[in-house]
Amino acid sequence: MTCDLAIAGAGPAGLMAALSAAGRGLKTVLLEKRLDAGRLVRACCEQLIMDRDFQGDTVRLEGGAVVSLENGFRVPYVGPALNVVNKLFVSPSGSAIRFAHADLAPIVVKIDKELLLRGLWEACARAGVDLRPGAHVSGAVETGRGVELSVTRGGRQERIAARRLVISDGVNSHLASRMGINAHRPCMATALCVIYFLEGAEGFRPDTLYTFFGRAYRGLAPITVNAGRQPGQTSLVVIGNRANPPEKLFRAITAEGALAPRFRTIRVDGRLGCAARAYMPLREPARGSVLVIGDAAAYVEVEMQGALACGFRAGRAAAEELTGGSGFADYTRWWQRSFEFNGDDWMQVAQGFALVPAYTDDELDYLFGLIEGEVLEGTYNQYRSPRLMWGAILQHTERIRAERPALHAKIMSRAKTTLGDML
Ligand SMILES: Cc1cc2nc3c(=O)[nH]c(=O)nc-3n(C[C@H](O)[C@H](O)[C@H](O)COP(=O)(O)OP(=O)(O)OC[C@H]3O[C@@H](n4cnc5c(N)ncnc54)[C@H](O)[C@@H]3O)c2cc1C
Repeated sequence: MTCDLAIAGAGPAGLMAALSAAGRGLKTVLLEKRLDAGRLVRACCEQLIMDRDFQGDTVRLEGGAVVSLENGFRVPYVGPALNVVNKLFVSPSGSAIRFAHADLAPIVVKIDKELLLRGLWEACARAGVDLRPGAHVSGAVETGRGVELSVTRGGRQERIAARRLVISDGVNSHLASRMGINAHRPCMATALCVIYFLEGAEGFRPDTLYTFFGRAYRGLAPITVNAGRQPGQTSLVVIGNRANPPEKLFRAITAEGALAPRFRTIRVDGRLGCAARAYMPLREPARGSVLVIGDAAAYVEVEMQGALACGFRAGRAAAEELTGGSGFADYTRWWQRSFEFNGDDWMQVAQGFALVPAYTDDELDYLFGLIEGEVLEGTYNQYRSPRLMWGAILQHTERIRAERPALHAKIMSRAKTTLGDML
């Protein structure tokens, strides 16, 4: 079987790439190892981020669609949409740093990702994409004229010749690794993440994203709580590793940690997990006939809207390549420019995430207490939030130096530390 473009993986990136390529007249095959690409089987918080200029785009949910203001795509979506207007970083004893817009405009909108994926799948079918659920791409080689893929489907092996290949197989980036594309790309850590969907959790507002910092909560990393998938449901995100599996941490968090009283009467409705490799981002996502997009090329994640943008741009890039243009080079420039983890200072984000275990619970209470009551700009951005938080705390530098000289010295030394140093 021969096609213009083969796409490996039908998450938001692959589906959007297929739609974008087929819309430009390419004979497109979309290969997805799962039988139902519209069903979520791994953890995802299912939220659209409303920050302006976030990862090269601004998205809005309007007129029954996810609308991209910068990249110019539109994905039909009619379904639940919950506006989340507050984000709280909470210290061990409960001091909260609040992020919110003055007009309480949403910071994120929680949506049903399954509906979004199903809508895209149906749009691909209408656009004439050759959709192959249950097709596992086990390898691919360059042939000089394009790529030959090895595919297993329904117990049968098949070879597919494609003039171009888009790899969109998600965060663990297996296919790119098999093709040698990740050879010089260090994997920093493997995180085990489980989202628990809970009935009966007390004291959490559905319009608020909570992150709890400190050993008192008994997590390995900060603990995130936000609205679940159903009305009245709460989701608890637990990040662990092999030595500290999420299930063990979940028991400690809900039974012994500082939040335990709020989990007294919970029932676990469901859980979704994932093992996510934190690779350094792939700065050069194109090689020969192959383009790696979405989470497969990212430092952990591009978020749903970033995946859609990658797919939209990748379909266009493949069409340009096949008519003698420089689509992959253009895509690469856009990718490097748009995603913050490709910037030179992205590792400074460690200043935010390194609150745990770098600072003791007592130090966190003191630092959060300095700016409790202030409202910081409403942003989800995980690179901007720590910068804003530290910017506000360091307005009190002289006071910290006078009251807590050892803590001041620690902050000054850690401010120069990057995530790379930590790992
Ligand atoms: C723990 C976690 C939480 C997240 N929370 C959010 C959030 O709240 N909001 C947000 O916007 N984003 C979130 N994201 C990120 C978001 O899920 C991703 O950015 C987005 O889904 C990435 O899309 P993708 O298409 O690149 O990869 P994926 O969605 O992972 O899709 C990859 C697809 O490839 C398929 N596949 C894999 N290997 C093969 C193979 N060999 N052959 C064929 N098919 C294959 C998989 O089955 C899958 O369908 C989260 C991600 C993780 C890991």
